[in-house]
Amino acid sequence: MTKIIDGKKIAQKLKDNLKTEIESLKTKFKSVPGLAVIQVGEVAASSVYVKAKTKAAKEVGIKVFDHHLADSVSQKELLDLINNLNNNKDVNGILVQLPLPQNIDEQFVLDSIHPSKDADGFHPLNVGKLSISNSINENLLIPCTPLGCLIMLKEEGIELSGKNAVIIGRSNIVGKPMAQLLIKESCTVTVTHSKTIELKNICKNADILVVAIGKPQIVESDWVKKDAVIIDVGINRINDIENKKTKLVGDVLFDDVKEKVNAITPVPGGVGPMTIACLLKNTKIAFENQNKLNL
Ligand code: NDP
Repeated sequence: MTKIIDGKKIAQKLKDNLKTEIESLKTKFKSVPGLAVIQVGEVAASSVYVKAKTKAAKEVGIKVFDHHLADSVSQKELLDLINNLNNNKDVNGILVQLPLPQNIDEQFVLDSIHPSKDADGFHPLNVGKLSISNSINENLLIPCTPLGCLIMLKEEGIELSGKNAVIIGRSNIVGKPMAQLLIKESCTVTVTHSKTIELKNICKNADILVVAIGKPQIVESDWVKKDAVIIDVGINRINDIENKKTKLVGDVLFDDVKEKVNAITPVPGGVGPMTIACLLKNTKIAFENQNKLNL
C-alpha cells in the first residue's frame, strides 16, 4: 500500500525535540535563540508564511523579533535594519521573507545577512559550505525546504544510497541544495529544468523524484516508476470548481500518482510544515554556533 508521508507529524516531532533542547539551553545559559523575521509589503502569501513561522517559533520557545516594513521602504533602510540585527546579540537568526519589492535587489539583501545568522541558509558562504562538505554535519545552515525533504526521507527509513534521484527544478532555494544533499547521501542525482529534453522519460527512471516546479499537477502517473518515492515541493493555488473556492495543490497530480508509487508527500501537509520546522532548527543551530556550543 502507498505510504502517504505525513510531513505535519514529522515536523511536530522535530519541533517537540527542539522545544526540549531550547528549554535546556534556557536553563543552562539563561537565554534562548532569537529569530528576526522581516516582511516587506503586503503580499498575501508572505503574510501567511510569516504568521505560520512566527507562531511555530514562539511555540518552541524561540524569541521572535518582528519587523514588518512598508513596501515603500528603500533598499538602504532595509540594509540598515539588517545591519542592526547583525549586531544585535539577542538575534541569532535573520529571515527575510521573499519575494521583495522589485526595486530591491534580493540577492544583495540576502548577502548582507551575517552568514552566522543566515536562518534560511541562502548566504553564499553557507551555500559554499554545503557544497564542499562531505556529510551533513550539525553546524551547517542548510536551506530549509530541501533539508526538510531529506529529514522526511530519513524518518520514513527510505534507502537513499545508490538510488537514482531526479529533481525537477534548479532554483537556489530548492533544486540546487536538494541535489547537494542527495549527492551526500550517495544518490545518483539528475537535476532537470524547463529546457530538459525528454523530461518524462528521465523521471520514469527515478527511484526518488523531487518535484519543485511551481506549476499545478503536471506530474502524472505515466511520469513515474512503479514503487518510486515522490516528494512534491510545489504549492499552487487553483480554483476548486466543485466547492466554488480555491485550494492548494502540488506540482504532482496526487490522486493519480499515489496509486502507482511506494510513498508520496501530500500538499498541503507534506513539505510545507517541514520547511518551517527546519527554519527553527537552523535558528537553534545559529544560537549554538554563535555561543560556540558545537565545537
Ligand atoms: P522557481 O520558480 O525558482 O524554480 C522553478 C524551477 O522549475 C526552475 O528551475 C524552472 O526551470 C523549472 N520549471 C519550470 N517549468 C518547468 C517545466 N515545465 N518542466 C520542467 N521544469 C520546469 O521555484 P522555487 O524552486 O522557488 O519553487 C518551486 C515550487 O515550490 C513553487 O510552487 C513554490 O511555491 C514551492 N515551494 C514550496 C516550499 C515549501 O515549503 N513547500 C518552499 C519553497 C518553494 P528553469 O530554471 O529552466 O526556469
